[in-house]
Amino acid sequence: MQHKRKRRWVGMLFLAAILSGSSPQWLHVNKSESIASGSPANGHLEKGWLTPYRGKNFRYFSPISYWLMGSGYTHSKVHRTLKESYAVCERTCPGAVFRLMECSRKKGGKMLIHYTHRNGLSVDFMVPKTRKGRQTRRYDHIGVWHYLLEFDPEGRLSFDAATSIDFESMARHLLALDDAARANGLRIRKVIFKLNLKDDLFKTPSGRQLQRRNIYFARQLPKRVDDVHDDHYHVDFEIR
Ligand SMILES: [Zn+2]
Repeated sequence: MQHKRKRRWVGMLFLAAILSGSSPQWLHVNKSESIASGSPANGHLEKGWLTPYRGKNFRYFSPISYWLMGSGYTHSKVHRTLKESYAVCERTCPGAVFRLMECSRKKGGKMLIHYTHRNGLSVDFMVPKTRKGRQTRRYDHIGVWHYLLEFDPEGRLSFDAATSIDFESMARHLLALDDAARANGLRIRKVIFKLNLKDDLFKTPSGRQLQRRNIYFARQLPKRVDDVHDDHYHVDFEIR
């Protein structure tokens, strides 16, 4: 009996800790325009907007990152850009479901594992994947562990070569992001994607369009940065 009561108390304390940790997100309301200061690598965010946890064709990738760590905030202009780009993808990538990865914290500043993401203008996007010619989401549910997935230079998943990056859908999403950014007073400042995967992206029909638009993709990266940008693409926006 004693044990049972103890377990119940521990369970309740655990639940209370989770609820209090996530309460800023539960209680958050997006209002008035955000203010970004400094750069993605050394900046802050005021009045950050929380991205929706899910939409019709997109999801945030991790409840821990979103609710507990509060890493799903962006600048209000980026917020609108994300939503509009996914609305366009409903038409250009029918049936596809995309995943947003880490954004910024409510007030920006330093974040675990990221060098940037500090002023609400950086967003990570999970690579969409295919298997036997169809979209697969079997590895989309692993939360923060997705950052550890590795892909070979052809875009095949290291331990499951039948699963590979859907470069065409990724390019269509980036085109939609570019259009939506311009419509919201932003522009894409830089995309970081593993250097040896860029040729596969630019080979696709939509990838060729991306190249024609002259969107800047990082051309040189320190190895430690290059190595971790195969499972996701990082986008820095800039206010025009
Ligand atoms: Zn990033």
